[in-house]
Order: sequence, then structure tokens, then C-alpha cells
Amino acid sequence: MQSPEPNSAAWLEALYKTDPMLATHVQSLLADVSRSDVCAICGDDHPAAYQLCAFRPMTLRLCTYCHSLYRDTYGAALHPLNADPALL
Ligand SMILES: [Zn+2]
Repeated sequence: MQSPEPNSAAWLEALYKTDPMLATHVQSLLADVSRSDVCAICGDDHPAAYQLCAFRPMTLRLCTYCHSLYRDTYGAALHPLNADPALL
């Protein structure tokens, strides 16, 4: 199943069901910057889009710094959305 585009309205709706605290943070951040192509954690405007794998079927748009922080903190496997699905 295809995950919704990160930071879109459908994505936020899905995230509210799995991680309401993160969804609240992202919704507030998106309202502050008035755009959706930003890092979901810090609001940086040059993020890559990463697939968040392993424990939930969601995507997360993260900048390089937040991607490193997330991986180091949670040990979760993150893969770029445009990665070859055979490698995931
Ligand atoms: Zn960031």
C-alpha cells in the first residue's frame, strides 16, 4: 500500500492515528511555515523524504540532521522514498 505524501493532509490524518503527539507537532510547524516541503521535526526547508520502516508503515520528511538524530535515538531503519523497493 502506498503511503500518503509526507506532510500532506492525508498523511497528517494517518499520523494522528499512530502518533498523535508527533502529528500535533508537525501540524503546528506546517502552520508556522505555511508550506509542506519542510522537515517534519525542525522545519528546515531542504529536507529529503525518507521512508520510515520497521515498526510502522509511515513516511517522514526529514532533513539530514534530524534523520541522523532519529536514527541514533531510535535505531530505526530509514530509507529514501526513491530507494529501490528491493533493497528495503
Ligand atoms: Zn530537521
